[in-house]
Amino acid sequence: MSESGGPDARRAELAGALAAVRNRLDEAARAAGRAPGDVELLPVTKYFPASDAVLLYELGCRSFGESREQEAGAKITRFRGTVTDPGVAWHMIGRLQRNKARAVARWAHTIHSVDSIRLADAVAAGARAARDAGDRVTPIRVLLQVSLDGDPQRGGVAAADLEALAAAVADAEGLKLAGLMGVPPLGWDPDAAFEQLARMHSQVLAGHPGATELSAGMSGDLEQAVRWGSTCVRVGTAVMGRRPLA
Ligand SMILES: *Cc1c(COP(=O)(O)O)cnc(C)c1O
Repeated sequence: MSESGGPDARRAELAGALAAVRNRLDEAARAAGRAPGDVELLPVTKYFPASDAVLLYELGCRSFGESREQEAGAKITRFRGTVTDPGVAWHMIGRLQRNKARAVARWAHTIHSVDSIRLADAVAAGARAARDAGDRVTPIRVLLQVSLDGDPQRGGVAAADLEALAAAVADAEGLKLAGLMGVPPLGWDPDAAFEQLARMHSQVLAGHPGATELSAGMSGDLEQAVRWGSTCVRVGTAVMGRRPLA
């Protein structure tokens, strides 16, 4: 028995949870006739401390998802005090306000939540500013968050506006159109949601063959997402444990 609360206990807990999620992913890939390792596991570290990200790094993780700019910025600074590996990629997965775009552009390898041309313009301006300041050398990989139920309150670009947004991001200096992201609306059957997402992804791919990424699936629905072509599952709870209340 390890002492409760110590770093060794936390490391063992994270190692066990990671192994379990990787097993689920491999199993899901096999069931879908896909190669294990075809789907990236993006651990979501929001609400958890930088020390947990360091432990995950030591356990082999090289990318992390965050959803709030302020929390992420501080966490990444702390993380980099311990881990200097430039190969670590931080992903912004949460809703992004335009006034935070410049700050996020300083640290985000990938943004999963671009859902309007106005936001894309702000992120592109941030990317160029970060490049000019020497904070980044590569373009920001952008995933377009799509709305599956057309409810603008919940974020995501409506199907009717998707192609115009894809074209704007593809043309923007400082951005690279990488693919799509979607979250099943509350109460929806995940298979139905991911099927619709996969259809939208095919449409975008037809005009933008480089937009191969499909960010879909979380702790509760990663199997269904893998069935419908997910290339990146964003997993919080199943790796980290239950989040403290916001
Ligand atoms: C928090 C979050 C996740 C992780 O959700 P879990 O159910 O804890 O795995 C995935 N995607 C987004 C956009 C999130 O904000």
